[in-house]
Amino acid sequence: MVAQRLDGKACASQVEANLASRISKLKADGIEPHLAVIIVGDDPASHVYVGSKVKTCERLGIRSTHIEMPASTTEAVLIETIQSMNDQDDLHGILIQSPLPSHMDEEALTDLIHPDKDVDGFHPQNLGRLVQGRVDGLLPCTPNGVMRMLEWAGIELKGKNAVVLGRSRIVGMPAALLLAARGADATVTVAHSKTSDIESVCAQADVIVAAVGRPEMVKPSWVKPGAVVVDVGINRVEDTTRERGWRLAGDVDPGVAEHASWLSPVPGGVGPMTIAMLMENTVRAAETSR
Ligand code: NAP
Repeated sequence: MVAQRLDGKACASQVEANLASRISKLKADGIEPHLAVIIVGDDPASHVYVGSKVKTCERLGIRSTHIEMPASTTEAVLIETIQSMNDQDDLHGILIQSPLPSHMDEEALTDLIHPDKDVDGFHPQNLGRLVQGRVDGLLPCTPNGVMRMLEWAGIELKGKNAVVLGRSRIVGMPAALLLAARGADATVTVAHSKTSDIESVCAQADVIVAAVGRPEMVKPSWVKPGAVVVDVGINRVEDTTRERGWRLAGDVDPGVAEHASWLSPVPGGVGPMTIAMLMENTVRAAETSR
């Protein structure tokens, strides 16, 4: 078996096409959707992600404000920036690019973003709604992108055994909640670094969502023939054959394509979907501001 490609780029294009008419409608009503992206420090990968987000805004006609701060910025300055953005009526979404420098409390700072402008979906109020099974609010972009891609490919989840590898606040836990939510109806196992015999756990899965940040950890022998595998991981690994000296690797060994029925590529899978869901959250936030 050779897995079909879960093409996040193609799915993201469709999401963007659907957003275009919503954006036009907002503009006709005098509202220009507006996203602010704050980046602190000089992590090169973070600057690449922010660049992609800003470029996608431009393509869609969403206004973006890109704020760069040096790594030495104090928490007090960032708090003041967030608070003034919360009060800015013509600004609908605020995103703080992770990771923040180690002297900052990332969770406490993102908690200061007004829940209605929390386009990352990480505020306790928005995550709390998700725990309650209310999936109509601002959902975390990466797990929501995973769900949208599965739906787009026509993959039925009802009654299926899904294994989520990773239990982070950003990806693993919200992905598990979305898979188990009414409507998706999967039976979900969450595995993490303390899970014993993770290979056997994965071997029971009809659907695997890998979000561990460990290059190519999920091996072909872990995957049941015909399983659906979503690779969330983005890892830089050394590659001396490339001029830049590294390549991007997912959390799934490419050999899994020989066993799975569907596999998302890295890059070109979950990454573009994360940005598409951020755009959708920004448009939604602008719509609810009316
Ligand atoms: P994270 O916060 O570091 O969480 C990693 C999770 O994986 C933790 O729950 C950890 O378990 C678990 N884990 C680590 N090593 C493991 C092992 N050997 N066996 C089983 N579980 C293990 O990472 P994250 O933010 O969720 O991100 C995960 C990956 O997704 C990263 O590669 C990241 O770059 C990528 N990502 C991609 C996108 C995208 O747009 N495509 C967005 C966000 C993240 P413990 O809880 O026990 O420590």
